[in-house]
Amino acid sequence: MPVLPAVFLLLALAPAALQRKDKELELTSGRAQPKEEACYDVQRYDLAVRVDPAERRITGRVEMTARWTAASDDFVLDLDDRLEVRSVELRASDAKDTAFAPASFQHHRGEIRIMRAGRDLAIGSDFAVRVEYGGKPREAPNPPWDGGFVWSKTASGAPWIATANQMQGADLWWPVKDQPDDEPASMSIRVTVPRPLVVASNGRLEEVLEDHDCTADEPGGAKSRGWRTYAWRVSTPINAYGVALNIAPYETITREYESVAGDTFPVTYWVLPENVDKGKVLFEDILAQMRQLENLYGPYPFRADKYGVAETPHLGMEHQSIIAYGNQYHGNPWGEDYGFDMLHLHEFAHEWWANLVTCANWNDFWIHEGFASYTQALYAERVKGTPAYFSEMAAMRGGIQNRAAVAPREKRSTAEMYFGDRDGSPGGDIYYKGAWILHSLRWLLGDEQFFPVLRRMAYPDPAGEKLTDGSACRFATTDELRSIAEQHTGLDLGWFFELYLRQPELPTLESSVKGDELEIAWKTPGNRPFPMPVEVRVGSELRRVECPGGRGTLFVGRGAKVAVDPRDWVLRTKE
Ligand SMILES: [Zn+2]
Repeated sequence: MPVLPAVFLLLALAPAALQRKDKELELTSGRAQPKEEACYDVQRYDLAVRVDPAERRITGRVEMTARWTAASDDFVLDLDDRLEVRSVELRASDAKDTAFAPASFQHHRGEIRIMRAGRDLAIGSDFAVRVEYGGKPREAPNPPWDGGFVWSKTASGAPWIATANQMQGADLWWPVKDQPDDEPASMSIRVTVPRPLVVASNGRLEEVLEDHDCTADEPGGAKSRGWRTYAWRVSTPINAYGVALNIAPYETITREYESVAGDTFPVTYWVLPENVDKGKVLFEDILAQMRQLENLYGPYPFRADKYGVAETPHLGMEHQSIIAYGNQYHGNPWGEDYGFDMLHLHEFAHEWWANLVTCANWNDFWIHEGFASYTQALYAERVKGTPAYFSEMAAMRGGIQNRAAVAPREKRSTAEMYFGDRDGSPGGDIYYKGAWILHSLRWLLGDEQFFPVLRRMAYPDPAGEKLTDGSACRFATTDELRSIAEQHTGLDLGWFFELYLRQPELPTLESSVKGDELEIAWKTPGNRPFPMPVEVRVGSELRRVECPGGRGTLFVGRGAKVAVDPRDWVLRTKE
């Protein structure tokens, strides 16, 4: 998701966050997981939903197939109370020909509790639950940050609809296990809308059924004059918040693209009819970004499906294989325009850092946002040169707050991490401080080691770069990044990760020239070890000074012009 503009974050959102009522605080993804939700492992979702723009209403059916993994009387799914559950049916068997039977349930405080269902389920067995529901879903107060359905209109007055729900969770509009660490292996998404609207969603489009309603009673849906169903199939794991609907009278710009892995897949932009000319320019930018990011991080992960971008009435979101783009062709919404679309780049980077590599829990949210933000600087460097890289890093430096550890060890919800409205939560530091930590790691390791470490973080096994069946998707943690970096370099990097990610304070660099020698010393909170090398410019020459034990010296000669860390490689307190 895009970072909040800093001023807005400070002035508007903090008070709003404090004023949120208890009920709204429940609307966050990744709450403490009750045992009734930990007792099963999702295998697949089949989602069918009809979207009625005139009524701002949805009607849906979700079938979840899951494996029963631990004893529990009840089990629960998450669903916002704004929506009404019409029925719940259970099939306590993986045999497809076994009939569903009605199950008793309660829908209360955002939970659908299926009562006593666990008594008939053997551990290790598969079961399925089918939920029929509907109503008026939460309208997003400030998408994409405060999410829900976005009911907008195009310039010509046609419906223009999108979902954005990373912060509050997918349970704003469909019944789901709203936890980051349980993804289905695959998913179908069938969406019925009034003709001539078009639905752009995740995965690959299988068919469009005219005069059809996918939520009607008959299996597979039924005839419904004037409506049409878009049937999408996601062939890989997908995070629940990444499931998205984008609905408008879209036109498409599409091309087959050959991946660095050698296979080809379609790249498609769903553009509003009035923006086709601007869309064609953006489309070339998208393809150029695809090439660079494949070179940096390895092949685009969802080649079995597609790469898609949909023009949305909100700023943007990393919905897997259907990125939401609402930057209105403005280039860089955060700063200097380098001739490419920075918002698209940020969201696109999330295909690797959020969708291929997903944080196992939201306390490692920086793996999504820090890596995506850092991609902005890396890409600027590739297309505009080294000064653009440092300029991007300098722009991000001003946003760092150091209120709390970037990666706390305990489980947190999305909202706690993002807004920092609970003690010990980092807020915007998951973006810019996260990016700066990678920047300093690059300096520490050097480019020859750093870039392979990034790539191995995306694909730990190089053989995984060839896979297209979704088996390369994984959950990752901060500790895994450390271990990949240590394995690759043979270094002990515990000190680096402890200081930068597990506590908030920055190290301070002290330096002085005594006679003809420069002396450097790191001061750290709690006297933590910090053997970080420092770049020093002597005259016009750049030198690297190693600092074992947190101290280093360099012969500079009497009266030499000396600058310590002149390019700002190391994240530290500002003088
Ligand atoms: Zn983001």
